[in-house]
Amino acid sequence: MSCVIAGGGPAGAVLALLLARAGVEVTLLEKHGDFLRDFRGDTIHPSTLQVLDELGLAAEFEKIPHRKAYGLTMVSDAGDIRLASLRDLPGGFGYIAFVPQWDFLTLVTSAAATYPTFHLKMNAEAHDLIREDGAVRGLRYRDGDGEHEIRADLTIAADGRHSTLRQRAGLVPQDLRAPMDVVWFRLPRQADDREDTFLRISDGHMMVAINRETYWQLAYLIPKGGFDVLVRGGIEALREPVARLLPWLGDRVGQIRGYEDVSVLTVALNRLRRWHRPGFLCIGDAAHAMSPVFGVGINLAVQDAVAAANLLAGPLRSGAPIPESTLHRLQRRRLFPTLVTQAAQRLVQNRVIRPALSRRFNPSRLPRDLTRIPVIKRLTARFIGLGIRPEHVEVPSVRS
Ligand SMILES: Cc1cc2nc3c(=O)[nH]c(=O)nc-3n(C[C@H](O)[C@H](O)[C@H](O)COP(=O)(O)OP(=O)(O)OC[C@H]3O[C@@H](n4cnc5c(N)ncnc54)[C@H](O)[C@@H]3O)c2cc1C
Repeated sequence: MSCVIAGGGPAGAVLALLLARAGVEVTLLEKHGDFLRDFRGDTIHPSTLQVLDELGLAAEFEKIPHRKAYGLTMVSDAGDIRLASLRDLPGGFGYIAFVPQWDFLTLVTSAAATYPTFHLKMNAEAHDLIREDGAVRGLRYRDGDGEHEIRADLTIAADGRHSTLRQRAGLVPQDLRAPMDVVWFRLPRQADDREDTFLRISDGHMMVAINRETYWQLAYLIPKGGFDVLVRGGIEALREPVARLLPWLGDRVGQIRGYEDVSVLTVALNRLRRWHRPGFLCIGDAAHAMSPVFGVGINLAVQDAVAAANLLAGPLRSGAPIPESTLHRLQRRRLFPTLVTQAAQRLVQNRVIRPALSRRFNPSRLPRDLTRIPVIKRLTARFIGLGIRPEHVEVPSVRS
């Protein structure tokens, strides 16, 4: 039996690797010609590092230049507040690795390419489903050579939060609303800048600063739909709050030449009520777009992929038909972590981000070091690092 996956993001790439590794014929379609995408999620959390380790890829991953963040600090006008520390997490990966997403995807697809049952088609955009006898039997895609069809026993939509295949299957996500959008940009980093990755909050403004060694990757939060207002204020409307939030970057903000140097993320938070149809399954952002709060979108996508492979590789390899009830088991398994994570994201959005953007959040009331409170330390580390119901690779490799 065969599987076709639309979307070479974290969910699709990891699922394709796991299925190919289990001996299943799998075709992965990616609409772009490469995995290069700036300002996409670059956070690989301990749960995903464990999956890479279980796949024997931890050493290869370690060779990719990356930066490790062992905790998270909020920088307020009243001083620094330590929010979380991941150092004592069980499993040996007590940090978040910041690695360009394309390096992660290249690692995963290169590992998949060592299996003869893996087929990758780049520049291949899936645009419709093939339906027969009330079930999905594959997909239609277009590439530089024109229109094509791929028939498969299982079709997976891993084509992200604007999923075409989800829409073609008639599945509509429920919008859970987010109060903010995010403006991403970068500024050079100097040797004597601070070392850590942190969250800066002050007087109606919020920003995340990620240390990428040679540069700062900066995420400036704006009220939902506020990008047009920002642009109308000219580039100074962005430079000025950045220089005010981080005065030591003041001499560099002129290097944001204009809005062509920034990338705006329209934050989406949603999920499907039903993730499947006969012969068809949505995973990752196609099933549930995550808010950037906690930076866990990639990790949920990867966990969906691992759970899907654990459940589906056996039937796919044996040739047994896959009833829709099996696809529903996958939804039931992954819905719980999705619900809990989205609930926590909404809590932070409503209790911290929304008030902070309207000058109603006062961090001076928080303890200076939340990691000194053992129960908070344990819970935040586990929640951010491992997530709810971390998945483990259970499907053996054809090589073992
Ligand atoms: C600007 C930005 C910043 C983010 N920051 C973080 C972060 O720091 N940490 C984090 O964990 N998450 C972050 N996220 C979220 C994270 O990127 C997603 O949750 C995660 O990538 C979801 O993985 P996925 O594989 O489900 O979907 P995606 O990563 O969206 O991958 C979908 C893939 O499908 C391809 N595709 C789309 N349509 C088709 C089609 N019709 N045919 C074929 N291919 C198609 C796309 O090109 C893409 O490669 C961020 C998202 C954005 C947009």
